[in-house]
Amino acid sequence: AGIPAGCAPGRVARVDRGRLTVLTADGEVRAHPAAALLEDTGPAVGDWVALRGELAVAVLPRRTAFTRVVAGRTSAEQVVAANADLVLVVDALTTAPRLRRVERYLAVAWGSGATPVVVLTKADLCDDVPAAVLAVQEDAVGVDVLPVSSVTGEGLDAVRALLGPGRTAAMVGPSGVGKSSLANALAGTEVAATRGIRDADGRGRHTTTARELHLLPGGGLLVDTPGMRELGLVDDAGIDTAYADVTELAAACRFRDCAHRTEPGCAVAAAIDEGRLDPARYTAWRKLQAEAHRQALRSDARA
Ligand code: GDP
Ligand code: ZN
Repeated sequence: AGIPAGCAPGRVARVDRGRLTVLTADGEVRAHPAAALLEDTGPAVGDWVALRGELAVAVLPRRTAFTRVVAGRTSAEQVVAANADLVLVVDALTTAPRLRRVERYLAVAWGSGATPVVVLTKADLCDDVPAAVLAVQEDAVGVDVLPVSSVTGEGLDAVRALLGPGRTAAMVGPSGVGKSSLANALAGTEVAATRGIRDADGRGRHTTTARELHLLPGGGLLVDTPGMRELGLVDDAGIDTAYADVTELAAACRFRDCAHRTEPGCAVAAAIDEGRLDPARYTAWRKLQAEAHRQALRSDARA
């Protein structure tokens, strides 16, 4: 799909109450979306749009979309970042690894069509980084796990290496894990408000507390997603990949319609018995499947 005649392409860097900040060949411009675009989810950060003057008349097809369900009466779907090549799933090394949460983020990331990478921040505050990385790596099947410190700079080159010219990464994770600090460290300048700054003088700086696409010195692009409290699953698209080991065991089970609980001869139950599968991981897999199923029923009801 191309750009309509008379229009210029641009990339949405920011959405403020419906107003768009768009990166174009002529620099940053402010625009607003044509009414027709708002019938769907509307333009999201990372979207390519066709601009006619100050009007975004079309959103180009998304290659990937990191989408979440915001719980509530409508359980609405929200595109957190569009057209990301990579999703940096961020957690801090200051607490024991929160594997269940990382798994959820990985499932949504795989479902987005992008490739996830786990980034473990605050390595400078962790006594045994290799052990912590290993614990996460066992769970993050087929995903790179990178320890970093925004304070010492440790590990940042490994992240930079993933963000070559034109590559877009979306950074996701709960607040306080160091996403803004990482954005600033990668940008080499203060582009995002860290918790300290927010507490101190909050306003008045050219830093952001909203989702924003930042252009990095190496030519890569980074979407910072501050303040994302919940990450509801939109569908089951990424679950099988995030839980490839569990999915494989379940497929190997010789029983049709097996509940994989206590059935003698069940491949999943055997793996749990023999310590090859953490029962908590198995339970999390089941729960995410149920959540995706409920959301599918909701979407059907709305359609
Ligand atoms: P965000 O909410 O995920 O954007 O997290 P922030 O970037 O605001 O960081 C939360 C707190 O952790 C702040 O006080 C940061 O200074 C601190 N922090 C972030 N990254 C690091 C790090 O690599 N090492 C250390 N020691 N502190 C960090
Ligand atoms: Zn079974």
